[in-house]
Amino acid sequence: MTKPFLIAFLTIFFLLNSQNIVFAQFPLKENRKTALYSDTIEAIHYGIHLTDINLTNKTIQGYTEAKLVSRTGKLSAIKLELARLSVDSVFINSVKIKAFSLSNNKLAIKLNAQINSGDTILAAIYYHGHTFVDPSGWGGFHFSGDYALNLGVGFDAIPHNLGKAWFPCIDDFHDRALYDVYLTVANDKKAISGGTLVDVTNHGNNTSTWHWKTEHTLPTYLISATTGKYELVADTFNGLKARIPITYYCKPEDLKKTAGTFVNMKNILRIFENHFGPYPFERVGYTGTPGGLGAMEHASNVSYPFSAWTGNTEREWWYTHELSHMWFGDKVTCASAEDMWLNEGWAVWCESLYREGIYRKQAYRDNMRSKLKGVLQTTAITDGGYFALYGIPQTITYGSTVYQKGGQVVHTLRGYLGDSLFFGGVKAYLQKYAYNYASTYDLRDFLSSYSGIDLKPFFDAWVFAPGFPHFSIDSSVIVKSGSGYDVKVFVSQKLKGTTQYANANHLEITFMDNSWQKNIDTIVFSGAVGHKTFHLPFFPTTVMADMDEKISDATTDQFKIIKSTDEYDYKQTFCKLQVEKIADSALVRITHNWVAPDSLNLLQPGIRISDSRYWTVEGIFPNGFKAKGEFTYKATENLDKTLLTDPKDSLVMLYRTGAGSIWAKTPFIRKGSWAEGTITVNKLQKGEYTLGVLNSKYMDKK
Ligand SMILES: [Zn+2]
Repeated sequence: MTKPFLIAFLTIFFLLNSQNIVFAQFPLKENRKTALYSDTIEAIHYGIHLTDINLTNKTIQGYTEAKLVSRTGKLSAIKLELARLSVDSVFINSVKIKAFSLSNNKLAIKLNAQINSGDTILAAIYYHGHTFVDPSGWGGFHFSGDYALNLGVGFDAIPHNLGKAWFPCIDDFHDRALYDVYLTVANDKKAISGGTLVDVTNHGNNTSTWHWKTEHTLPTYLISATTGKYELVADTFNGLKARIPITYYCKPEDLKKTAGTFVNMKNILRIFENHFGPYPFERVGYTGTPGGLGAMEHASNVSYPFSAWTGNTEREWWYTHELSHMWFGDKVTCASAEDMWLNEGWAVWCESLYREGIYRKQAYRDNMRSKLKGVLQTTAITDGGYFALYGIPQTITYGSTVYQKGGQVVHTLRGYLGDSLFFGGVKAYLQKYAYNYASTYDLRDFLSSYSGIDLKPFFDAWVFAPGFPHFSIDSSVIVKSGSGYDVKVFVSQKLKGTTQYANANHLEITFMDNSWQKNIDTIVFSGAVGHKTFHLPFFPTTVMADMDEKISDATTDQFKIIKSTDEYDYKQTFCKLQVEKIADSALVRITHNWVAPDSLNLLQPGIRISDSRYWTVEGIFPNGFKAKGEFTYKATENLDKTLLTDPKDSLVMLYRTGAGSIWAKTPFIRKGSWAEGTITVNKLQKGEYTLGVLNSKYMDKK
């Protein structure tokens, strides 16, 4: 057919031209320490031929033809990357080259004649051998029983890109090329790559070659090769722009589980298309991976663990994560490893976002909250400290900060811009940088200009600085004014894991009265404290900050509307309510603050209070409402390890009505050991609670 050929040709032509324009319009906004091979030469097409994938010897053999274009003048040698494999011969424009060397994964090839900027050469490299697996055991090219496959990045390989594990290439996040992949396997196996299956040629010797072709450019870490005993379950998605084929290559035993495993796939595709634009590749593809190997977002051919083929929706968040990478990572690729949150943070956030479309807003919120608790409690421990999202050390590119804090920052950015500007801006950004790379600065500047909101202060605090801000209301002063009330609200900012205050913060304030009248407004403030006067038509009995949890600051909070006596678990706040009496509906909000309470104004000597957390209880408590509050304590890192240091100390619960009042001991019942248990306050009141310990020397002096 001539038509596909013409399209491929036009795409290459367009790319060559558009890349020049892209560079002219978007100068690099990165702090790159090292030059990239793609600074001097770029690949526009790879023809990868694995002529033998030997499952017994665990070796591959084949050749790759790379069409390369010089980006500088007077180039007399080129460098490609190839890991572990041995090179048999090299040809440039069909002429055999003797002067090449391979060491430390670098394949240096001396050209017979210099080439100049814009010149194209065809390098054909023949190679064979055992394949590379990165020290983490995750990325590289794997053999496992009847299966062989690549995973395109290595956690412990620096740089992380591992196209080089199975073909010679320019292996970075910038360089994008088109691919034809030819995989020769035994006839009882299938061989799957990205793009579209062009044909399967049976050689008559019990082997066949599977030819796959991509229509969209990809960096080397996103092209894939997978072979093994697979069955195909095929489907189609009617996308916004095109009918997209769906392929699930599963273990023969899992055939019947496929439909149940991916039951929501098309709904999720629709949600992502609506938010982020048409599905960006020619196929939605998931191919099973054996032997405990992980999931990897190879474009249109996601590697997806056999173990996640559950037959039910238990793991759907996982394929959703990989699906979201088709937009975040594959369509627009992070400019560098230091920008990895642009791939992984967004994908983690998408694990929550899809729930909003399928299971409603509350499911999104519950999922974000549960992840936020995890981030605040464990990320600094697992990553070995607080790190800024941007510029993350390459040892933790794939760590909790990038994934989990990254997801929370995307959520917070959504709240900051509001849904209309946020989703409109993100869709436009993905279009602007389509099939290209973008840096953190590119995202910041694009969304700033799209929205008209200067995002520099937001990025300075949330992306370029470590840790978290913490926002709270210190007090409010209510004065009668005309037919309504003037309410002056004083807010403050504390810090967790950072010394840098966030500026230009948008903090939503919710005012409610006892008959549930409600007003929501916003205070914009910078630095440690702020205040604003709001005019209200009613007298507010409760004033709450960020009730809708739009900001992932150092708080985990939840409100519940309570209508009957029962137990209510505020899961991510280490607090449970036992409602004993209720005549009318109550609104009870519990906030777990992951910062130290102000330690001033202690009523009793000898008491040391928590340096890491306290609770806020707010809401509408109607007459006759009575609830017990059960708080959890534990001498573990990031909870009470610094407070509960001495079994001789006596644990106490402290209460105050608000930030301006004095902490005083409040009666409680303790269950558990000195190091772990619960504290129950018999009559929970609005105000603040925190843990303290009374030094044994003071115990008799009551
Ligand atoms: Zn991911």
